[in-house]
Amino acid sequence: MPTAAMTTTEAAAIVESAIRKFIHGCHILHYHGVVDAYGHLSFRHPLRPQIFVMAKNMPPAAVSSQDDLIQYWVENAEPVEEGAPQGYVERLIHSEIYKRHNEVTAVVHAHADAVIPFTISGVPLRPCYHMAGFLSTDGPPVWDIADHYLRSDIPDMLVRHEHLGRSLAKSFDGGNVVTLMRGHGFTAISSSIEDAVFRAIYTMKNAAIQSATLSLSATSAATNNFSPSPAIRYLNRSEAWNAAETLSGTISRPWELWVREVGAFGR
Ligand SMILES: [Zn+2]
Repeated sequence: MPTAAMTTTEAAAIVESAIRKFIHGCHILHYHGVVDAYGHLSFRHPLRPQIFVMAKNMPPAAVSSQDDLIQYWVENAEPVEEGAPQGYVERLIHSEIYKRHNEVTAVVHAHADAVIPFTISGVPLRPCYHMAGFLSTDGPPVWDIADHYLRSDIPDMLVRHEHLGRSLAKSFDGGNVVTLMRGHGFTAISSSIEDAVFRAIYTMKNAAIQSATLSLSATSAATNNFSPSPAIRYLNRSEAWNAAETLSGTISRPWELWVREVGAFGR
C-alpha cells in the first residue's frame, strides 16, 4: 500500500513498472526457449511483500496485459481476489520460496530440454563459462520429488501441494540460486525479475554447452583408441564467484537487448 511518503501516483508507477518487466520477462523466456506452453515466471509485489503475482493458466508468450495476471497470498498460494481465473497448478513452487526466502522477489520455473539430462543422470551441472558463474561449482542440488510424496499424493511429478513446495524451497537455503528437479526441470530465484530471467537463460545455455563438451570428450577418447581424454576444465570456485560478481553489475545490458528483441517480434 502507498505509504505517507509515497503518493498514489508513485505507488501505481512502481507497480506498473514491475508488471511491464514481468510481461517482458515472460516473452523473453519464451523467445530464448526456456519456457514453451509450460513453465512460468512470478514476482513478489513491490509494495505488498505478502503477495506475489503470476499469469493465469496460459503460455507465458501469450501474456499481454494486467488482465492476464493473478495476485496470490504468499502464505497459502490462494488468489487475493475472489473469482480469479484458474491459475497454474505449480504456483506452490513460487509461494513456498517467497515464504521461506524474504530476499527473493522473482522466480522462474521451467522444463528446458537441455537441463533435463542433468536431473536424471547423476552428472552434476557445473559452470562451464563465466556467464554461468552463479551455478554452484559442485552442481546445483537435484531435488527429487519422489523423496517427498505423501501417500495421498498423485505421483505426477508436479509440485501441486504445500509440503512439496516447502521441501523444494529448502533447497535454496545457504545462498543457492538454482535447483534442478529430477525428471522435470529447474527453478531459478533472484532479487530481481531481470536477474531471475538471466539465471534461467544461462542455466539452460550452460547445460547445452556441458552436454556438447561431454559428448566431444567422449568422441575424443574414442578416436584416440579410448585413451583418456583431458579432464574437462570447469570454472573453479574463485572464478565462478568472481565472474558472477562482475556480471551482476551488467544485467541491464542483456535485459535491454532482450526487451528490444521481443519488441521486434511484436510483443
Ligand atoms: Zn513444472
